[in-house]
Amino acid sequence: MLEKLRQIVCDLHAELPKNNLVAWTSGNISARDPETNLVVIKPSGIKFADLTPENMVVVDIDGRIVEASYKASSDTASHCYIYRQMPQVNGIVHTHSRYATAFATHGRAIPCITTAMGDEFGGDIPCGGFALIGGEEIGQIVVDTLRDSRSSACLLQSHGVFAVGPTAEKAVKAAIMTEDNAAIAWASLALGNPLTIASSDIDKLYNRYQNVYGQ
Ligand SMILES: [Zn+2]
Repeated sequence: MLEKLRQIVCDLHAELPKNNLVAWTSGNISARDPETNLVVIKPSGIKFADLTPENMVVVDIDGRIVEASYKASSDTASHCYIYRQMPQVNGIVHTHSRYATAFATHGRAIPCITTAMGDEFGGDIPCGGFALIGGEEIGQIVVDTLRDSRSSACLLQSHGVFAVGPTAEKAVKAAIMTEDNAAIAWASLALGNPLTIASSDIDKLYNRYQNVYGQ
């Protein structure tokens, strides 16, 4: 079932260790098939090197197992909550990437202080509140936090990063850019108070990048 999407989600998982976003088995990616509304997600507690298209788990939009030889990721209920609330989202990535999570330990947004951040996120990467893992509470915080923002990623207090996108690949890109910008912001804050970019310029950066940039 969903052979192609299983392959895509499996291949994208390799990007997480490659980009230093995860340690051991932490972190996960899911993708929704817009036609069937089924979700392909990482199995729980399997090392990245051992992931295959076959051991990906397929669940329905309410998180019920449809096809699986392993237990689904412990964040499955939260991924499914996000898909139910955000119909434009077809891919979700969760990591505990270092610099971004350092901001999350202060409950602090990653400030939009570079043109690259204006391009990609159109403002700060906001930080939501604290929730324990297992149920859909984390998903609720992600939806509430992204609702008032253009950002495709948010932080969860004392936890890590959730990135979303119209495809799983775009969500992975957002997760990578979140960490890159968090590292820049960290270094910049270590030097003192960074300069700010006018919100009207952030709007221009975002609109150009989202609508004009690329091929
Ligand atoms: Zn986590």
